[in-house]
Amino acid sequence: MERNETEEFSLPRVEDYEQYIGREAVARILGKASKLRDLHVINVNSTYYGGGVAELLSSLTLLMNGAGIRTGWRVLQGRPDFFNITKRMHNALQGDQINFNELKRDIYEDVVFENAARMHLDHDIVIIHDPQPLPLIRHFRKKAPWVWRCHVDLTHPDPDLWEYLREFVEDYDAVVLSLPEYAQNITTPQRFIMPAINPFSSTNKELTEEEIDERLSHYGIPTDLPLVVQISRFDKWKDPQGVIDAFRIARKEVDATLVLVGNIATDDPEGQEIFSDIVKCAEDRIIVLSVQDSALVNALQRRAAVVLQKSLREGFGLTVAEAMWKGTVVIGGDVGGIKKQIEDGVNGFLVDSVEDAAQKMVCVLRDPALRESMGHAARETVRSRFLMTRLMEDWLDLIASFVP
Ligand code: UDP
Repeated sequence: MERNETEEFSLPRVEDYEQYIGREAVARILGKASKLRDLHVINVNSTYYGGGVAELLSSLTLLMNGAGIRTGWRVLQGRPDFFNITKRMHNALQGDQINFNELKRDIYEDVVFENAARMHLDHDIVIIHDPQPLPLIRHFRKKAPWVWRCHVDLTHPDPDLWEYLREFVEDYDAVVLSLPEYAQNITTPQRFIMPAINPFSSTNKELTEEEIDERLSHYGIPTDLPLVVQISRFDKWKDPQGVIDAFRIARKEVDATLVLVGNIATDDPEGQEIFSDIVKCAEDRIIVLSVQDSALVNALQRRAAVVLQKSLREGFGLTVAEAMWKGTVVIGGDVGGIKKQIEDGVNGFLVDSVEDAAQKMVCVLRDPALRESMGHAARETVRSRFLMTRLMEDWLDLIASFVP
C-alpha cells in the first residue's frame, strides 16, 4: 500500500546532513540510493528499544526510507526464557562460558522457528541482527541475499558456542562486523561497518541550557558540582561498579557528582538484577537511575564535565559517539570499538583499570582548557566518521554489491 507523506509528518532526508557533511557527499549518497530505489529491504533484531541496535535501526531505517528505499524493521518475539538463553549466548560470544545444552538449543531454535512462521520474508535483501534471530535463515527458501549483522565484540567467543552458530552463519551471503579484529574463520565473506549516530534524534539534537536544566531538575540531579556521567544498560560488560569505585577514588581529590543512568532492554533479562545491585551503592553524590528518557541522556551528555564508558567489552560504543558529538570528553575502556573511536590523549582517554579511570577523571575535572580542546576534537571525530549518512553509505555500497 502507498504511504502518505504530509507536511506535518515527513521522513528524515540525507539533505538534512548537508550542514555537517557537505553538498558533494549528500549528492554522492543520494546517487547511490537512487540506483537501489526499487529494492525492498528488511531488518530483523530482537528489541524495539534499549541498546544500540534498536537505536541504530530506528534512525537508519527512516533515513533509508527518506531516500526512497523501502526498508522495514521487524522485532523477534520471545518469552523471558528465550531471552535468558540468548543473553547468555551474547555473554559467551563476548568471552564468558556457557553450558549450551540440548534444552537451551531446543528453546532457542523453536522460538526462532515460531517467529519464522509468522514472518513473511520475501524481500530483496534480508538483514538479520545479532545471534537471537540468526537461525531464521533455516526456515526460508532463500531467494535473496541474507546478511548477518553481528554487533557484539567477537574477539574471544566461546569456541563451542561459536562452532554451533557457525553452521547458521555460513548459510548467509555476508557477515557484517564492526571491526576487522572481530573477523572469524568462516567461509562467508566478512565486511566491516562501524555504527553511527543520528544528530537529529532526541538523544542528540541541540538543547538549550534551560532545556538541560529542566531535565536534570526533573530527576533531582544537582548541578552545583561538576557532573561525571555514565549512560549504559545495566550490564556487567559496562562495568558500572568499576565506575563507582573509580569515582570514589577521584573524589578524594576533586569534588563532583556521579550520575549513572541506564535502561533495561526487553531482550536483556540480567538488567534488573544488575540495577538492583548497583542502586545499593547510591549515596550522597552518587546517583543511580533506571529510566528510559533520551532527553535526559542528551542533557547529561551535554552538561557532563566528563562522560565515562568504562566497558570491559564493547562492540562499538554508541554512547561514546553520542557524548563526543556533544563536545564532551569521554574516558572509555580500552577495548573493542572504543579503541577505534577514541584516540588516547587526543579526543578522549582510554583506560584499562579503575585507578587509571580515577586518575583521568581528576585530570579532566581539573582542567577546563583540556575539556574545551579535547571536546572540540571529539566532535570533529564524530562529524567526519560517525554520522548516520556514513553508515547509510556503507550499507548502500554493500547492498549494491549484491545487485546485478
Ligand atoms: N541508552 C538510552 N538510555 C539509557 C541507556 C542507553 O537511551 O538509559 C541508549 C544510548 O543513548 C545508546 C544506546 O542506548 O544510543 C546504547 O548503545 P551502546 O552502543 O552504547 O550500547 P549497547 O546497549 O548497544 O551495548
